[in-house]
Amino acid sequence: MLSKEEILKRLKSEGQRMTRIKTEIIDIFVGEEKFIDANELYKKLDTKADISTIYRNLESLVELELLEYIYEEGKRLYRLHRENDHVHYIVCELCGDKKEIDYCPFEHLRSNIEGYQIKDHKFELSGVCKSCDSKTKK
Ligand SMILES: [Zn+2]
Ligand SMILES: [Zn+2]
Repeated sequence: MLSKEEILKRLKSEGQRMTRIKTEIIDIFVGEEKFIDANELYKKLDTKADISTIYRNLESLVELELLEYIYEEGKRLYRLHRENDHVHYIVCELCGDKKEIDYCPFEHLRSNIEGYQIKDHKFELSGVCKSCDSKTKK
């Protein structure tokens, strides 16, 4: 998992200005294991900022791949990006609900493409979530 030092280094190399609110947001995510949404984050902050500032900060941290998110019941939940224990997602085609799945189809394919060192891969499933499924069946 990313350490605070790594995050700050990364932000600096991207030319990001370190605001008090951003520093505080990073502190909270470093000490948080679970996914949290913007409102929970808001409650944890000492510095009072409006929710749009918080969203803007969250989005820029996602863009820099310092945070990752899932999408649940119309809300985005965030957590620190995990570099090594990589995750895959399933996304609902109808409402955009996004969940982690505990499965990787590429586990066996670590390094057997000739001439290449595999560094990363992407895999995402799409489907229809339970609540959308029950709505369409009405
Ligand atoms: Zn859905
Ligand atoms: Zn994988």
